[in-house]
Amino acid sequence: PCTANDQAYFERYSHARIHEQMIKDRVRTETYREAISRYRDFIAGKVVMDVGTGTGILAIFCARVGAKKVYAVEASGIAVQAKEIVRANNLAEKIIVLQQRVEDVEIGEKVDVIISEWMGYMLVYESMLSSVIFARDKWLKRGGLLLPSHATLYMAPVTHPVKYWECVDFWHNVYGIDMSAMLPLARQSSFEEPIVETVTGEVLTWPFVVKIVDCYTVVAQELECISAQYAFSPMMNAPLHGFAFWFDVEFNGPCILPISQFPPASSPSDLCTDDPIAQRMERATNGTTVLSTGPEEAPTHWEQTLLYFYSPIEMKKDQRIEGSIKLSQSQENARFLNIHLECSSGSHTLIKEAVLR
Ligand code: SAH
Repeated sequence: PCTANDQAYFERYSHARIHEQMIKDRVRTETYREAISRYRDFIAGKVVMDVGTGTGILAIFCARVGAKKVYAVEASGIAVQAKEIVRANNLAEKIIVLQQRVEDVEIGEKVDVIISEWMGYMLVYESMLSSVIFARDKWLKRGGLLLPSHATLYMAPVTHPVKYWECVDFWHNVYGIDMSAMLPLARQSSFEEPIVETVTGEVLTWPFVVKIVDCYTVVAQELECISAQYAFSPMMNAPLHGFAFWFDVEFNGPCILPISQFPPASSPSDLCTDDPIAQRMERATNGTTVLSTGPEEAPTHWEQTLLYFYSPIEMKKDQRIEGSIKLSQSQENARFLNIHLECSSGSHTLIKEAVLR
């Protein structure tokens, strides 16, 4: 059933500005186009479904590399414009825009390819991946292609004294007046919620993997609660202010194979290792198409998501810092994300809870 939360969610996508922002994100849009072009031999002559077509851009890219038919599914009002765009580009024969939730469509045939741009902040915010999973299970043929195919969520500790100075510490002395009474309120206003921004502080270690999603096999329950542990030793004395989160997605075939060997052999599992990190490394060396939103990469509209502590943890060089992260869908609205972060150094444990809404 389409809940009031869903309606509010789809309403947001019925405006031009949100699509403008995504389309002007050239890293995002060009990487999708590159992936489509890379799989053009697979896509040509085939049936494609675009889950959440928005303005229709990915559906049109697929039609242009020769897809026989594209079901462009879009629940929000922007489907009206998508339909006109398709017609204006003489693609109405090939692209069928369906203004429906993908959960409600009836197309009477299975598809060879499912493409979707479903990623939210911290990867899983907005929970759109579950709609792609639904479409995969109902409409994707065996051996079909999913774009993207894999996603990885990362986190890394950051130090950012300037941020604390600007948001909190300056209250100590305001035009010669001691306004320290403002500190608790300032901490809360600035750091209660996760912040979508570009990392400008310093990342203190290699990133930790929070979650690897294989889009071919992931099930919706797996996304209801994601948790991971981390540990590191700082290479210098520094205040730990919080953690940065980001993700990448990859465009592979149904198993880890060089694209020249795609589609895969009949028993792909023989060719895969069980270790997700090893698999990730293997894919990285395969020269696969990757859309990365990391702090070292070209900026995207996702930037990074920062979760700051109310007060920093003073870290000593080589001291062991460890903890855990848990991301769970909110009971109040499954599209919101509850974040529970624990961080221990010695006997001191800090817990930070927040909601991405
Ligand atoms: N593919 C477009 C838009 C991506 S944004 C592009 O790349 O520019 C994601 C879109 O998916 C939004 O327009 C949203 O309304 C739509 N969407 C999300 N969940 C959906 C669902 N369950 N059924 C149909 N459309 C959905």
